[in-house]
Amino acid sequence: MLSALLFAALCLPAEKPTPKVYVVLWFDTEDYVLPASDDAALWVADFLTKQKIRGTFKVVGEKARTLAARKRQDVIAALKQHEIGYHSDFHSVHPTPAMYLSNLDWDEGVEEFERREGQGWRDVERIFGQKPTCYGQPGSSWGPQSYGALARWNMIYLDSGSHVSLDGKPCYFAGVLNLYRLTHTIRADLNKPDELEKAFDRFSAARKELLAEGGGIVSIVYHPCEWVHRKFWDGVNFVKGTNPPREKWVLPPQKTAEETGLSKRIFADYIAYMQRFKDVEFITASQAAKLYADRSRNHKFTLADLRAVAARVGDGVTYQAHNGFTLSAAETFGLLNRLMAVPPEKAKAGQGPLPFSPLGPTSRLAMMSEAVTCDASQFTRTVQDVEAYIARHRRLPGTIWLGSVGVTPEAYLRTLAKVVLERLDGREIPANLTFQPTTLAAEKYVSADDPKLWGWVIFPPGFRAPAMMDLARRQAWTIKPALLQP
Ligand SMILES: [Zn+2]
Repeated sequence: MLSALLFAALCLPAEKPTPKVYVVLWFDTEDYVLPASDDAALWVADFLTKQKIRGTFKVVGEKARTLAARKRQDVIAALKQHEIGYHSDFHSVHPTPAMYLSNLDWDEGVEEFERREGQGWRDVERIFGQKPTCYGQPGSSWGPQSYGALARWNMIYLDSGSHVSLDGKPCYFAGVLNLYRLTHTIRADLNKPDELEKAFDRFSAARKELLAEGGGIVSIVYHPCEWVHRKFWDGVNFVKGTNPPREKWVLPPQKTAEETGLSKRIFADYIAYMQRFKDVEFITASQAAKLYADRSRNHKFTLADLRAVAARVGDGVTYQAHNGFTLSAAETFGLLNRLMAVPPEKAKAGQGPLPFSPLGPTSRLAMMSEAVTCDASQFTRTVQDVEAYIARHRRLPGTIWLGSVGVTPEAYLRTLAKVVLERLDGREIPANLTFQPTTLAAEKYVSADDPKLWGWVIFPPGFRAPAMMDLARRQAWTIKPALLQP
């Protein structure tokens, strides 16, 4: 009998892994004004612990220090059962991140983000005894330079907003996993019991869609203070750019005990609805980072891979998705330039992964309105120069120098890819090379400066950040889909 069963099992076709819906449940834990919000955080954390669910609590630095100062060891201990993320040092005290980053270049912006947010990040780790795994900005106060600091701090981006979006799916941006504008970002309104059924339906529809795609992420965000307040703590203090001193901060209006009880019931019902599906799994930010780990980081690129990568480059530079790995445009650039920089006989062995994922250009781009030419000797020297630039600056140059003539990295990549194909076919570098003005198609995944980006009520009216969004759009060189591990 046993052997018959074993035989039957051996004859079954290899089982496909069942797709799953991963729910990232995250809480912006930020209200350091209203003491009742501490109790709300305690309730949420304890409730989830009882349900055997680990949430991700993105804690504001001042909130962590306030919990310690109020001697709320009970709240700290309850939150420690979950994963801790970071949500800026002071959240809404002006200037907020988008404002202080808006006029800075990349490197100064990364340093400034570390200068202003580093203390809170260290305090959150000290008070909770765990390294924050993710960051998300206060309100819509987003800036691309924060990604430079997050790469150093080894954190992922977890929030919702419109600044960067790759078809509503998890993506990499500036080398950081970005769970940002996800299609399936769903909440149940904690104040409207009549709309709970609609939230169930939205979740159910999202689940069906994700399962059909082979699995994916649902992102659900709340703020613990929502259980106890009628208005956000910062709206009553820092609205439209106002910045009163601490002694003038006022408490937001609070819900009644019945209203808080209702919000608790709605949340409990919403969680219970999701829990009844066997294919739904609650995960934290760091679990998402593992599920969406970048497979190109340890991929061995065969000659067939490299040929396929080079063949896909044309006008409209963008990311590439291949079987089992994805490459940002900057990574394609790095791989192909390295291939040209090594002697032809060495190139035949294929290529290991890049030592790091280069940033896009952070300097001003070369002006280029017509085609430029150079000879093979100049091209060969430029390839070596570009290789040294990337190794030194860990990013692409904004201007590629063909001797005294500068071309854009887009134009250079397009020609580089053609030359790589010639080399892989065993041919010499052509005697004369042409560089055509070329567009960065991936730019469409990063928003242009738009008043809608800056609609957060805390911003001073009329706030705009054209230079910063221009800097962000150059980092579209780094965007690529994050693939779910098989
Ligand atoms: Zn917030």
